[in-house]
Amino acid sequence: MPIRERVLMGPGPSNPYPEVMQALARPVVGHLDPDFLAILDETCDRLRSVFRTSNALTLPISGTGSAGMEAAFVNVVGPGDSVVIGVNGLFGERMCDVASRCGAEVVRVDEEWGRAIDPQRLLSAHPAPKVIAVLHAETSTGVANDVEPLGEGKGDALLLVDCVTSLGGIQVEVDAWGIDIAYSGTQKCLGVPPGLAPLTVSDRARQRFVERSQSWYLDLSMISDYVGAARRYHHTAPISMVYALHAGLGTLLAEGLDASWARHEATGRALQRGLEKLGFRLFAEEDHRLPELTTAWLPPGLDDADARRTLLNHYGIEVGGGVGEFAGKMWRIGCMGHTARPGNVTLLLGALEELLAP
Ligand code: PLP
Repeated sequence: MPIRERVLMGPGPSNPYPEVMQALARPVVGHLDPDFLAILDETCDRLRSVFRTSNALTLPISGTGSAGMEAAFVNVVGPGDSVVIGVNGLFGERMCDVASRCGAEVVRVDEEWGRAIDPQRLLSAHPAPKVIAVLHAETSTGVANDVEPLGEGKGDALLLVDCVTSLGGIQVEVDAWGIDIAYSGTQKCLGVPPGLAPLTVSDRARQRFVERSQSWYLDLSMISDYVGAARRYHHTAPISMVYALHAGLGTLLAEGLDASWARHEATGRALQRGLEKLGFRLFAEEDHRLPELTTAWLPPGLDDADARRTLLNHYGIEVGGGVGEFAGKMWRIGCMGHTARPGNVTLLLGALEELLAP
């Protein structure tokens, strides 16, 4: 069945870079082939550059962003450990679920959806937590949470940060901000299809791994050998997805991180200004509004399902709906990775203008 190309402006996958699509067509070789291992090693180096870290344990986990989240928790959280988690959206809730399945004593710091979490509330929520965890970019609300003050004030705690919707799109500084564990997904601002979860872990966090992770597949004390020189851990890597990530990171680094952040900022803000002119009211608080993921209340007269169907079928544009209590009332519009181009913003705003015309 033929599948038409789309302009992917949802909170899900963005359009992959053309170089990435070419990389997916490269010959599949064995998972221990020296040519593949060279690409895997270079992919890990590129991830270090993009995460801005020198962490030796930096690799693409075979699985989507959720595998990154689970790998981050199951290796450092065991029964009875205190874990402070910031919750101002769906993915903060998900972190609580993952941590509680590890047997953690979860200390939630809730904030209204659409608002950022005050870092001081996270720092003072527990006298000596093992982990403080937060979303850098909450995809369900379009809000950026401040991370840097958490690194400054974390004390003995490990700082765990979800960078699924931030990496490549806004500034992420793993070493400079004192982040111990960060993970992402390939499909958003990295411009690669879904399927891998970039992950980086500090030496400090490695020294505090639980003795026996509750996941076998995501046990980093085994997986670390997959990327180390010894390669004792058997893993049939998803070869083509590693090619794709290697190419996407190459494109991003050739553009330059600063330039990519500036491109996401310019296109995201242009979209937000245009939406406001069309009568949409933006949802996320202004000071912490992400450029790469915009949330907006639908203007009167625009039916959620009808409008999104027309955008998809007549204009080839995908946008995302609201989640939870915001379903049917709010949209989530991505401007991420290769999608973050002025032409796509103009196309969507033009289509919406036609849809809203009396
Ligand atoms: N964390 C955040 C912030 C996300 O936006 C997502 C997915 O959109 C995930 C985690 C889970 O990633 P995946 O759907 O790739 O498993």
